[in-house]
Amino acid sequence: MKDKKDIRALSKDQLRDFFIANGDKAFRGNQVYEWLWNKGAHSFESMTNVSKDTRKMLEEHFVINHIEVDKMQQSSDGTVKNAIKLHDSLIVESVMIPSQKRSTACVSSQVGCSLNCTFCATARLKRMRNLNPDEIYDQVVSIDQQSRLFEGHPLTNIVFMGMGEPLLNYDNVMKAIDMIISDEGLGMSPRRITLSTVGLPKMIKQLADDEVKFNLAVSLHSAIDEVRSKMMPVNKSHNLTELLESLKYWYSKTSKRITFEYVVWKGINDKKKDIDALVEYCKRVPSKVNLIEYNAIDNGDFQQADPKAIEYYVRELERNDITVNVRRSRGKDIDAACGQLANKSS
Ligand code: SAH
Repeated sequence: MKDKKDIRALSKDQLRDFFIANGDKAFRGNQVYEWLWNKGAHSFESMTNVSKDTRKMLEEHFVINHIEVDKMQQSSDGTVKNAIKLHDSLIVESVMIPSQKRSTACVSSQVGCSLNCTFCATARLKRMRNLNPDEIYDQVVSIDQQSRLFEGHPLTNIVFMGMGEPLLNYDNVMKAIDMIISDEGLGMSPRRITLSTVGLPKMIKQLADDEVKFNLAVSLHSAIDEVRSKMMPVNKSHNLTELLESLKYWYSKTSKRITFEYVVWKGINDKKKDIDALVEYCKRVPSKVNLIEYNAIDNGDFQQADPKAIEYYVRELERNDITVNVRRSRGKDIDAACGQLANKSS
């Protein structure tokens, strides 16, 4: 049997062309497209305003690959972690993080990761493949449903902070975001979406050239090359100077302030020189800092810094008029917090 193609790999134009090539009207393409994305159809059979013959024809040519929530775990703080099974049985994880009136979807962009950040659990998994646009989109849809069910309101925010490096899966992530913001998909505002990256300068410039309307977060963790390179090998090939240059470019094109994500570790980046370096770095491009709690992933190679060190960071940043937020971790009891996604449940 010939391999059938995933119908959601087709753009709307391609789908319209398919119908024309098969003696039907282009308009039929629009209808089916709406079923596939906006209405989230899992089968051709459910497309009730499409004739039986057309559905049969579609069935002969295509499949609708769909993610499956294989396992769901709920934290005592309301955070929900999903083990997502893909059509080829690989697993990724997604997280729903509720807070009073908001709920945030944390989604994966790759199966595993290739960047080897030493403090991150996902780094222990080999990068297997990129996720397709529909696999990213479906994670958002399923979390939107969970938010409605458990929180009584739709999803409000999306962060690309799950497994993988989104800028190494650029085209698919962009297609997924286009569909998330499109009225033909979920119609969400791009201002509610944040893409988080280790900081790949070329791709950050690409985002700027593409004039994206969503937010950018960079996992900084140190503003000293020597220290950052030890934790994030990517810094050896793209150092802080090169990163800064790309961030300035981003700001010049988008006028959007960058968020730096930053964990303070005991004995690694908790000294005055680390704080001074961060302050100087932040002064050079419009930015703010999210200090995130460290989520332990092993037997103590890394330890969260003393609260005093965090306080010192906050004080110095604020004294220099740099916005800083201290982020509590969520979903730790189910290994759903930042950097803990490693398919332990599978
Ligand atoms: N590759 C992207 C997105 C995935 S990681 C990136 O690096 O930004 C999402 C965030 O979790 C990043 O800021 C990352 O540095 C952080 N992170 C990874 N491991 C962590 C851990 N053990 N504790 C706290 N944050 C962690």
